[in-house]
Amino acid sequence: MSEWSDSIDELIQHVTLLKELGQRTIELPTGFLAKWDAAFLPGDKTGLSRAAPARPTPIGASGKPAPFEKFKLPDTVERDETRSPVTGVILSGEARVQALAKMVERASVCTECPLHAGRTKTVLGQGNSNSPDVMFIGEAPGEDEDIQGLAFVGAAGMFLTKMINAMGYQREDVYVSNICKCRPPNSRPPEQTEIHKCLPFLREQIGIIRPKVIVLLGGTAIKALLHQAGVMRIQGQWTTYEGIPVMPTYHPSYIIRFENKGDPEETRTAKLQVWNALKLVLARLGKSVPTPKK
Ligand code: URA
Repeated sequence: MSEWSDSIDELIQHVTLLKELGQRTIELPTGFLAKWDAAFLPGDKTGLSRAAPARPTPIGASGKPAPFEKFKLPDTVERDETRSPVTGVILSGEARVQALAKMVERASVCTECPLHAGRTKTVLGQGNSNSPDVMFIGEAPGEDEDIQGLAFVGAAGMFLTKMINAMGYQREDVYVSNICKCRPPNSRPPEQTEIHKCLPFLREQIGIIRPKVIVLLGGTAIKALLHQAGVMRIQGQWTTYEGIPVMPTYHPSYIIRFENKGDPEETRTAKLQVWNALKLVLARLGKSVPTPKK
């Protein structure tokens, strides 16, 4: 039974990923679906057979059974909107606020990694925690964030606010957080061991907040959550985390770096790539792209 459910879970994840990547059909060997149905017919305790009406084997133009049959993926992946895909727990808006407040208390006394020694305040994140359209996840707090105990309030935060506004949202409409909750010394990138120790906080946060889409900002966030290196390769392409659609893109600091170098061409290219990724997010959420303000 567990082998079956593991295989089914893997298959569902694989098909979901194909769909996130824009694929709308998959080819299956002829008879596959009939065999699949048969495997779950009377006596089936999985309930899958009830959702899967018998399908005739398709016939090719020659009158022989077609070697492959096309199976259309549904346009929307059905999810139980009230249940966290990470924890499976149903939470009201108020319960989410309380659960996050408890997490802030726990994080403020956390000594799991050396970063605790240098922190002024832990920075869990802030914003709309009640299943917002978007949750942005960056790297770790910098100097301003460490002092204020709030995510993305420095220079990178100002740029992120512009991105959020360009999408037609205010900061309080979305949730903003980081992979690490304490500032690394001199705002260096967090180390693997520090990320490893801190990730349970973020995982729990995602499970409580249950955003509709996650936007990962920069290589550290992408590597930590998706275990994938190479922001340039993966940025702008849909993937998923625990069933939640994920859009990886560049960190605002990446664009600021080009601006500070006085490199207009690189700045323009990076901005355009980020904006294209954010437009995909809006499309996914069924929102139209706001007209830019003059
Ligand atoms: N501020 C944050 O909160 N996160 C970053 O990744 C950078 C700056």
